[in-house]
Amino acid sequence: MKIANRKVTAERLVRDALEKARHFADYNIFTFLNEEGAIKKAREIDARIAKGEKVGRLAGVPYALKDNFLSTEGQTTAAAHILEGFVSPVTATAVEKLEREGAIMIGRTNMDAFAHGSSTESSYYGPTLNAHDRERVAGGSSGGSAVAVALDIVEFATGTDTGGSIRQPASFNGVYGLKPTYGTISRYGVVAMASSTDCIGFFTKTPDDMNLLMEIANGQDPKDLTTLPDYYDESEAKKIKKIGIIKDFDNTSVDSEIRNALVSKVELARSKGYEVVEIEMPALKYALAAYYIIVPAEVASNLSRYDGVRYGFRAKDTKDLDALYKNTRGEGFMPENKRRIMVGNFVLSSGFYDAYFLKAAKARTLIVKEYEKAFEKCDVLLSPVTPNPAFKLGEKTNDPVAMYLEDAMTVPLNLAGVPGLTIPAGKTKDGVALGLQLIGPRRSDKSLIEFSKELV
Ligand code: GLN
Repeated sequence: MKIANRKVTAERLVRDALEKARHFADYNIFTFLNEEGAIKKAREIDARIAKGEKVGRLAGVPYALKDNFLSTEGQTTAAAHILEGFVSPVTATAVEKLEREGAIMIGRTNMDAFAHGSSTESSYYGPTLNAHDRERVAGGSSGGSAVAVALDIVEFATGTDTGGSIRQPASFNGVYGLKPTYGTISRYGVVAMASSTDCIGFFTKTPDDMNLLMEIANGQDPKDLTTLPDYYDESEAKKIKKIGIIKDFDNTSVDSEIRNALVSKVELARSKGYEVVEIEMPALKYALAAYYIIVPAEVASNLSRYDGVRYGFRAKDTKDLDALYKNTRGEGFMPENKRRIMVGNFVLSSGFYDAYFLKAAKARTLIVKEYEKAFEKCDVLLSPVTPNPAFKLGEKTNDPVAMYLEDAMTVPLNLAGVPGLTIPAGKTKDGVALGLQLIGPRRSDKSLIEFSKELV
């Protein structure tokens, strides 16, 4: 990262980043700009550098924080009305780790409310525009973070990926985006969406920056018992020789320009001596249906805490406790949030549990096994991230199923807990960014990041 050469002051970097953020204001990237706080921190770092004190690996590096990470700087809203005005008393572990190394948060980024969505259009604050085509969606749910990096406002941004929310917007805006192995980075202090698939990760411009951030952010945290120990155990990092292409994705209609991007990366890999094999993964066809049962079930449970009493917004007309709950939740959630709460409660209800939730849980096991089998035949999978490039703003907002279908290639990884790295893969003839994803076995994150350098 640029600060490492010490040719610029932290204050200069932060001021430049804030200036760019203001310049791109009409992209609606930020829900909050940390003007005073960021400059104050930058000055502190510059003063420490001037005194010759040791500073961290991210000293003075401006970054953008997805608005579902708790921190005491500014309100944390997850782009939802129901959290308006909520200032967190605690800071997420991931944020603490970044800031301990000197990173400076210049703003919080826009997202689909509670991270439910694939376009950042379901935000209480309105949509974020795509970095390369203002008529198109930024992707989502971490749309603001992806665009902040793509427009070079910040060097990196945080994201969460429960079903594609890092990889898809990274792909739509032409940057790197990693969904790590489930459990790699502590989720303490991050607004929960679906606890069995939620992952924290990053957007960067380079694989090396991604690796540095992962080294800083990973690790066991007593506050998140799903976190893994010894993540960067070198014995896990295996040399990649054989690349698998998922045959079954031929049958789902993948856009021809995405197919071409995949073919040209395959050719590049072959020219460098990698073996490329076709892999059949028929169970992946159940992933989308299973995801849209399991995730709403967990969402319904995680969102039950927003009662109008403890956090943020409270409705005005509250003649009794029932009205307080009903009106606050009625006014505070977006339609997509409500849809998931309803679906979630339905699939968990006693008459339907076996038919939906239990069946989805069984399909999930098949998907986990499908990846295990695939990685006996290859070291890494190379796949599209989405069936189509970034779509037009408003194109799918009235058709939730059409929106869900865009997630078919990202959600299987979340169900299986395996890592996926979006890499930029050129542009369409109309100038829309394209991306592809590298998928590896659990804990192969570092190998994926290293290997991505071969495909540039
Ligand atoms: N688009 C997916 C969904 O709407 C993924 C969201 C996410 O990863 N947070 O559920």
